[in-house]
Amino acid sequence: MNKQQLLQQAKRIVDNRRYAAEEQTENTLEQLRQNDEWRIAEQRLRSAQVDLAMNIGDVKELKNTIAALEKEQAELLGKLGVDPSELTPQYSCKLCNDTGYFNGQMCECLQTELRRLIIAGSNVPNKEFTFENSAETVKHNIAIYKKVKQICDSGDKNILLTGQVGTGKTYLLTAAANYAAQLNKSTLFVTSYSLNADFLNAYLDGQESSSALLDNLIDVDLLLIDDLGTERLVNNVTANFLFNVLNERLLLHKQIFFTTNLQLKDIQDRYDERIVSRLLDQSRTFIAQLTGNDKRLSKGCVQ
Ligand SMILES: [Zn+2]
Repeated sequence: MNKQQLLQQAKRIVDNRRYAAEEQTENTLEQLRQNDEWRIAEQRLRSAQVDLAMNIGDVKELKNTIAALEKEQAELLGKLGVDPSELTPQYSCKLCNDTGYFNGQMCECLQTELRRLIIAGSNVPNKEFTFENSAETVKHNIAIYKKVKQICDSGDKNILLTGQVGTGKTYLLTAAANYAAQLNKSTLFVTSYSLNADFLNAYLDGQESSSALLDNLIDVDLLLIDDLGTERLVNNVTANFLFNVLNERLLLHKQIFFTTNLQLKDIQDRYDERIVSRLLDQSRTFIAQLTGNDKRLSKGCVQ
């Protein structure tokens, strides 16, 4: 789902809260109107309010009538055991009254829903893997973390993280995904292995499936592919799909982040020139190698 669709969905959730709050009030009023005293008082009150608004009759007298009727209603509420707050909709968000917008801006409640949907749809393996929670101690790696965060903010470059198993590549990729979600970017986190399986299935399924899969992979603001190089290269499939995804995203200036255990030389050997030239173009891709310090034992994170 792209960002616009996610926003619509988030808006629907907030709207539904508003409808529910308003319906609750309607139901309470409906029930009160079953009571004759209430119904008559309500009708008289409304008519006095209309008269006052239209300046019909003696203003002072009308105001007195209104005050008396309101008092009567308040007493009736007490008798009927209804809390006066139930007569007005109790919105969850007092800022925007569950409309999702406040002062012409997206309200915090709508942003929270949007983030929740982004994370739910992002396939991110672990929400706890964040920049803040990182236990990285290697100076060289900390500098890379900083740069990756910066690139998430600026949205201007792709990222290729290399390094051996246990250097924290997946942690960093996941932290980037979680951070991007915080920035309200729609993200999709996939392993290269599962992505390749999707490529193959879509290929076997035919043109429609292939287009739908590509649309999905191109729609999201940020695509994150973990463990490039672990997929089995399938003739006519892997390279073609991967090229299409990479190329389309580059044309649209949409970011794509990779991790890989492969050395750059291995990448050149493994993938065809169209992919390599795009992937390793340093004007468009930040390439960094994480080093040393196997932290899987202490933090329970793999790679
Ligand atoms: Zn709100």
